[in-house]
Amino acid sequence: MVSSYDYLGLIGHSAIESAAVQAIGQYGTSTGGVRLLTGTTELHVRLEKDLAAFKGTEAAITFSSGYLANLAVITALFGPRDRIIVDSKAHRSIVEACRLSHVPWDRFDHNAPASLKEKLERQPRSPRTLIIIEGVYSMDGDVCLLPEIVELKKRYEAFLMVDEAHSFGVLGLRGRGVDEDLGVNTDDIDIWTGSLSKAIPANGGFVAGSRDLIYFLQHAAAPFIFSAALCPAAVAAAREAIGVIEKEPERLVNLRRNQAFLHAHLRDLKYDTGLSNSPIIPIILRDDEKALFLARRLFDLGIIATPIIRPAVSPGGARLRICATAAQDQAFLEEVVAGFQISRDPK
Ligand code: PMP
Repeated sequence: MVSSYDYLGLIGHSAIESAAVQAIGQYGTSTGGVRLLTGTTELHVRLEKDLAAFKGTEAAITFSSGYLANLAVITALFGPRDRIIVDSKAHRSIVEACRLSHVPWDRFDHNAPASLKEKLERQPRSPRTLIIIEGVYSMDGDVCLLPEIVELKKRYEAFLMVDEAHSFGVLGLRGRGVDEDLGVNTDDIDIWTGSLSKAIPANGGFVAGSRDLIYFLQHAAAPFIFSAALCPAAVAAAREAIGVIEKEPERLVNLRRNQAFLHAHLRDLKYDTGLSNSPIIPIILRDDEKALFLARRLFDLGIIATPIIRPAVSPGGARLRICATAAQDQAFLEEVVAGFQISRDPK
């Protein structure tokens, strides 16, 4: 399996599994309700504190998925009198949230600050403008141009939201995310969102930001108020994982080494890996059938590399997408590269 989001190789970590099992013993398998009724255990509160401390924000709030975290924060805060400008490759949850909140919204060209600037300038000013980007783009693996976007956000007095589903725990010297990686002040971003199902091997999502923002969401975000709380096992696993990231920094070193190895060898084999500069490596084939055939050839060699076709990418964007993780050893990586070599020139 070479397409897992388990970037730090934490699925199967014994301390994380033990924490989950212990949480079931203490709290059971479910909280029996939503956060504002029966769903808040001490574990939930601790996880939110740990997430905020790790991210370097005043507070954080969890949801039952990263998808819902995006839906929650956008629909709770923005409406028809505002406007939102979104990177054209933003995740489906962000697009759905804009639709649901009846906010006028528009896309700017992918990772292109000049296009964002044009939109900010050209369109009529609303009382509030929100810019939405991602730390690492999930289908292309390129890192956002955060310093440039922060400068624009300040110049045009807009708010900025960054979805860190694929950069939280992954980018930066200590895995704190894209702000750490690119030397940007964490507080320059108004809304951070993320998932607990990628580098963090659990389930769930979060929003991190100012204390005021989080208080507001606790009382205004529909998915927090009307959907069941995260189950104790997921909360305990996520908490333990944050501790493991701090205690085992070598995982990030291994991740970067494996990422560099896969990038270099796939490029040598003349595969088109686009502009990726992260552990997400697209193998861009453009044609759906080519992507499905390559995935099948690799599968027959014992390698699962998932094909991505419409609607996850636009027509003509078919690809395989593989991910470097800290768990991959040298023999595994060499087998994957050999598989891609054999599959490129089938007899
Ligand atoms: N945002 C991005 C950029 C994602 O790629 C994903 C999931 N692939 C999500 C949000 C949703 O996260 P979750 O799986 O926790 O719902």
